[in-house]
Amino acid sequence: MIGGINLNSTSKRVVLITGSSRGIGKAIAEEFAKLGDNIVINYIVSDNEAGRVKKELEKKYGVSVLCIRADVTKEEEVSEMVDCIIDTYGRIDVLVNNAGIAIDKEFDDRTIKDWKDTLTTNLIGPFIVSRCCGRYMLKRGGKIINIASTNGINSFFPTSVDYDSSKAGLINLTHNLALQYKPYINVNCVAPGWVNTDMNKDLPLDLIEEEKARIYKGRFAEPKEIAKVVVFLASDAADYINDVVIKVDGGYQ
Ligand code: NAP
Repeated sequence: MIGGINLNSTSKRVVLITGSSRGIGKAIAEEFAKLGDNIVINYIVSDNEAGRVKKELEKKYGVSVLCIRADVTKEEEVSEMVDCIIDTYGRIDVLVNNAGIAIDKEFDDRTIKDWKDTLTTNLIGPFIVSRCCGRYMLKRGGKIINIASTNGINSFFPTSVDYDSSKAGLINLTHNLALQYKPYINVNCVAPGWVNTDMNKDLPLDLIEEEKARIYKGRFAEPKEIAKVVVFLASDAADYINDVVIKVDGGYQ
């Protein structure tokens, strides 16, 4: 053990999940940990939550977990994060671009800053992290999975106009990255519908009921229901699945 990292476990995959201190990212980290993979938890402000996730996964699954604070929108911080992963494990096998933000505001109140913050985190962030990791992943092959949203496909809200555009952009980025990295890295996209996380904790109750009525399954997803699809895309069973977008929305009209 060096610095809390179990170096004996390097035969397992090394999986970086951006934005994994909470919500869907945390659930993705747990699903990979169940398989015994080495996990890299990334976050921007939630030191305590990230530390708790690390302890929990190490204790429950006996895996090696590295916690790295880095803002995905800042190239230098991303580069330092990737250097730290390479120094620790020597490689990156799977990247999940999950970190994202949604700013809840009425259409008329939305500012250019809101647009820039949203696009920078949700779209430019995945580009920065993918390019930085891609340089290492190309050597051995690997998997990149982007977490977009059905808001980028078929569910639109004027109150999240910039978010919806950022997720449509992330779907397009998926296609470009798949082309750029062929045939060595599979690049796919998961587009969740509504999921029970902090992102939706302040939704008005009437909107929740209206949206549940539109979902064929009649409820929001739990984070692990998204995570299991991500783990499948990263598995050998999905080796010939490339450049696809999988909606995980329970059916929605
Ligand atoms: P969440 O609970 O709000 O968690 C967001 C995560 O992203 C946190 O770990 C946060 O870190 C991290 N993060 C935010 N900005 C970051 C940055 N600049 N650099 C690094 N990390 C950053 O969100 P969620 O609901 O789990 O959503 C995860 C992803 O799924 C997002 O891309 C979201 O758009 C997408 N999605 C969510 C839903 C849904 O209904 N919840 C539906 C479709 C798609 P801190 O804890 O440090 O703040």
